[in-house]
Amino acid sequence: MSFNSLRAGANRVLQNRVGGGKRGGGGSWLRWSPPQMPPNGQKVAEPVLYLPGNYVDEYDDTHPTNPFRRFRKHNFRKGDSKKDFRSIICSAGTNPHAPQPCVGCHEVDHGAKKAEPKDTVAFNIIHLVNYHHVPYIKDGQVQYKKDKPGEPVMIFEPCERTPVSYNCKWCGAEQQRPGSAPLVFGRQRIHEMGLGHLGNILSVERQLGNVCANCGTGIMRKYECQQCQTPLLDLGQLNIPEDKQEEFIQKFLSEQQQCPNPACRFVGLPQIFEDCGYVGWQKVPGRGCPENVETKPMSLFDTVVYLQREGEAAQSKIVCTDMQPLSLFRPLDGRSMPEVLKEVAEKLVDLVAAYQPDSLDVQAKILGVQNPWANAPQQQYGGPPPQQQAPYYGPPPQQAPYYGPPPQQQPAAPQQGYPQPQYQQPQQPPYQQYPQQPVTPYPQPQQGQPPVTYPNVPASTRPPYGGNSR
Ligand SMILES: [Zn+2]
Ligand SMILES: [Zn+2]
Ligand SMILES: [Zn+2]
Ligand SMILES: [Zn+2]
Repeated sequence: MSFNSLRAGANRVLQNRVGGGKRGGGGSWLRWSPPQMPPNGQKVAEPVLYLPGNYVDEYDDTHPTNPFRRFRKHNFRKGDSKKDFRSIICSAGTNPHAPQPCVGCHEVDHGAKKAEPKDTVAFNIIHLVNYHHVPYIKDGQVQYKKDKPGEPVMIFEPCERTPVSYNCKWCGAEQQRPGSAPLVFGRQRIHEMGLGHLGNILSVERQLGNVCANCGTGIMRKYECQQCQTPLLDLGQLNIPEDKQEEFIQKFLSEQQQCPNPACRFVGLPQIFEDCGYVGWQKVPGRGCPENVETKPMSLFDTVVYLQREGEAAQSKIVCTDMQPLSLFRPLDGRSMPEVLKEVAEKLVDLVAAYQPDSLDVQAKILGVQNPWANAPQQQYGGPPPQQQAPYYGPPPQQAPYYGPPPQQQPAAPQQGYPQPQYQQPQQPPYQQYPQQPVTPYPQPQQGQPPVTYPNVPASTRPPYGGNSR
């Protein structure tokens, strides 16, 4: 469930590209997307860890499993806005010859422009930045629990301090009233993306696969005869465009090959030989893993990647600016990574449930149109059927979380003699360094009083943490 399955899954989905065109997205609490690089070119990449899932691809006839959830989504522009969309999950189902009712498809069939369902995928991720644990404010008012009127609904808001803006209202509040907006490191989010960005993530994965997780140097990969180790494939000679190489190699590796060595002529599956310590095509003496340590390609699921978005809207690209093996990543709050993951990744969002299409009535309501099937006898809306299979990381009861320190294990301290990777950890200045912004602390709610308005805090547009994503 790593590497090969991500590549195979992503390649499969990319080859079966449907629709295309512009992507959009409405903001919502659960989702994360890489920050947009500002025009001055300042690095704003944020660290995330992708978590592998195990999701059946219903849009592929062979029903393979992917580490991400695949679905289709309609994005309807709100008026002329290029940023605001009303989005629904398409419920037309997987058989193009027998489409199930979908209000989105109905609108498209009746003239709605640029709202065809787009192939979309979603990953569970851990967003490895500081969050504030704060009361949920909507329309300038703290929201209180319905059953406990004195208790505010608490949510996690990302700290707004970034390399390009030191201004965070929550840091200000915490400074004024310690404990009012405490920092918490790392939250679970969903990274939802169209196929263009999935292609970018796939090339990040390829990039990672060329670096050794154990020593941080470049990996040289040879495809050779399993009898005599004669090289069977010279990619340099074949002149295959880079984006086709993956596919070519996969096919080559799955087929019997005859050894060109006249003394051998063995016919069989090629074997892969990987060696680290390379800079470009040159093996550098003294670099790479020692004899007794195995070369291990980095992969998306055990590497913290620093991602940002570059370019505008439909042309935007996800770019990885830094990477670090999970084992070397140090959380900002001094905890160990296993501790953070145990807390944050214990219960992951079930992406099948999260991306189940809404009922036709709800679809119509979201889109602000009449449900064309409103008077028809109640129909089961289409879309992918609920899956029997639990997600890989899902919360099977009583099962220990995948991440989480094995008992008695000491928090990961770098091991003696562990070779240092070449790439640098991005500098994270301690946050005391930032200039303090004057902020009026928000008043504490009183029992039995109506919610107070806080004009100095911009109304949050996010529904409460733990709320519905759509
Ligand atoms: Zn549809
Ligand atoms: Zn902050
Ligand atoms: Zn041979
Ligand atoms: Zn190595």
